[in-house]
Amino acid sequence: MGYDAGKYDVAVIGAGHAGIEAGLAAARLGCKTAIFTINMDAVGNCPCNPSIGGTAKGHLVREIDALGGEMAKTADECMLQMRMLNRGKGPAVHSLRMQIDRKKYASVMKHKLELQENLDLRQGEIVSVERNGDEWIVETRLGSRFTVKAVIVATGTYLGGKVFVGDVSYESGPDGIFPATFLTRSLLKLGLRLRRFKTGTPARVLKSSIDFSDLEEQAGDEPVIPFSYETVNPLENTVLCHISWTNENTKKIILDNIHRSPLYGGKIEGIGPRYCPSIEDKIVRFADKERHQLFIEPCGADTEEMYIQGMSSSLPEDVQIDFYHTIKGLENALIMRSAYAIEYDCVDPVQMYATLEFKDLPGLYGAGQFNGSSGYEEAAAQGLVAGINAALKIKGKEPLLLDRAGSYIGTLIDDLVTKGANEPYRMMTSRSEYRLILRQDNADTRLTPIGYKIGLINEDRWNKFLVKQQQIKDELSRLSDTVFSPTIELNNILVSRGTSEVSSGIRLIDLLKRPQISYKDLTEIDVDRPKLPDNVFEQVEIEVKYKGYIDKQLAQVEQMRRLENRLLPQNFDYKSLIGLRLEAQEKLNKIRPVNLGQASRISGVSPADISVLVIWLSQKDKQ
Ligand SMILES: Cc1cc2nc3c(=O)[nH]c(=O)nc-3n(C[C@H](O)[C@H](O)[C@H](O)COP(=O)(O)OP(=O)(O)OC[C@H]3O[C@@H](n4cnc5c(N)ncnc54)[C@H](O)[C@@H]3O)c2cc1C
Repeated sequence: MGYDAGKYDVAVIGAGHAGIEAGLAAARLGCKTAIFTINMDAVGNCPCNPSIGGTAKGHLVREIDALGGEMAKTADECMLQMRMLNRGKGPAVHSLRMQIDRKKYASVMKHKLELQENLDLRQGEIVSVERNGDEWIVETRLGSRFTVKAVIVATGTYLGGKVFVGDVSYESGPDGIFPATFLTRSLLKLGLRLRRFKTGTPARVLKSSIDFSDLEEQAGDEPVIPFSYETVNPLENTVLCHISWTNENTKKIILDNIHRSPLYGGKIEGIGPRYCPSIEDKIVRFADKERHQLFIEPCGADTEEMYIQGMSSSLPEDVQIDFYHTIKGLENALIMRSAYAIEYDCVDPVQMYATLEFKDLPGLYGAGQFNGSSGYEEAAAQGLVAGINAALKIKGKEPLLLDRAGSYIGTLIDDLVTKGANEPYRMMTSRSEYRLILRQDNADTRLTPIGYKIGLINEDRWNKFLVKQQQIKDELSRLSDTVFSPTIELNNILVSRGTSEVSSGIRLIDLLKRPQISYKDLTEIDVDRPKLPDNVFEQVEIEVKYKGYIDKQLAQVEQMRRLENRLLPQNFDYKSLIGLRLEAQEKLNKIRPVNLGQASRISGVSPADISVLVIWLSQKDKQ
């Protein structure tokens, strides 16, 4: 029997990327909040890659920042190298990625939590979560019982964590930290449907044992573009990454020992992330491929540990040593930490609303890897939404519901709660049907007004945001109002860029619409151009160049939002609705969509089923 240890508004179980954003958001919105962590020295730990962002994940980080979250600012503070990925493609898929100092990231985040008003950071394993009327009680392993109004479960890969390296397996969280072994039972008792997923990480190697002399270097991009809209100090790239490749020998060693893999030998039951496969998975699944690329990345500024991206494995340690040594540059590498796979318990996310509150358990929320996702950024995004919604509910305010047309965060959550996750869910730009309007460069335009309304964006930042929006508007009208005469100078520029000359006056906006012409090309003749920040010119140029496509997507958004406005009842038995196919009845009863839009995205609910729902809703309206 435990003892009464006091009350909080919100208890967050976990101080990983999800728990941090959840706790900060709830506390900043005025709720007395506690974050519980198994190990105080692993707050904001990055157990896998020492980097934040990347394709689509960079979009999430920008969106978190635009709403008032913390990940982007901390990443900027701990940056070692910045790259803008996919620059050769359209702006919809440009994605920021930063190598970060992982130890510094963790300590900066921990310090921010410690300094946050209304927030207590506590070491303690939560072993049970119980309902207590309209409230909840969370109990630590040492017997403290806290009464709270809302609980956010953000247990990551620790819940029922089990590590695998070849034949060896043991109960553990990541990085040798002990796992959460009791909470699963308590969550099952509440009626939650849980499942087992797995993920894996590569070895960490001693820098001085790597021969970099023949390896391709990968430098950061200049100038450095920060993640946060609030970062004003210039940032600097301070490290290089390197590229190497697997070869025929690597493949042979892996295939000769594949029977010793716990995955192929059937020891691992959990389902792994298809888009982050282990090296043995890649070699088996892409058997024709001669070689696989890998990146050698520093883990921090004051450590010699190097992360070998692309080489995660759960093969035995002796096999790992052998195949790592086949790689150019790693012939004599000293493996400081072996690669491993980890299996953990997580929840079937269709049991939640898009607020991340469990439908049948008011006041209980889920976030991060616990919800079936994978990745620091995906976790942080959900943590922010769960923290905001727990606080808004406690304050008696309207919930925050982000839709697919407004953000990648909305898309991520909608995918999880509508389609569920049959494997660890990772964000990708292809998951969004509105990616031309959901760019990383305009996350502030899309989401800062929401963050301000909620109360996570302060006045100073809001005023700066308004100035930027005005600058964009003014510059767009200047482009429409400015007309250039068909001078020799202008035509020389046009011809040199491979586009046709003009014989009469032309508006600046029409010149910029031409794919061959950029702002930079017109600098010399555009003498009245105002001095504006680069990110304003970037916004304006994208708006002008892609206007046709953007308008088309906005029309689709309108259509989608009409469906989203048609609400569906929450306690209705779809089995009683004649005309719906059996599969649709079952899926609708299981997922209980909140509106027609969500219903239309459930796999197994066809357009014909949607028509039945539309007719039924109109009949209900008439009645
Ligand atoms: C081996 C490994 C490989 C990975 N590989 C990748 C990858 O390739 N790509 C990728 O994108 N992501 C990868 N990840 C996933 C990434 O680490 C997670 O997605 C991310 O950290 C999830 O954040 P989170 O906040 O949900 O959970 P975590 O960061 O795992 O944090 C969980 C927190 O919950 C706390 N906790 C758990 N249970 C309790 C309890 N009962 N009581 C109190 N506190 C508790 C822990 O102390 C911790 O603070 C990997 C993770 C691991 C471990």
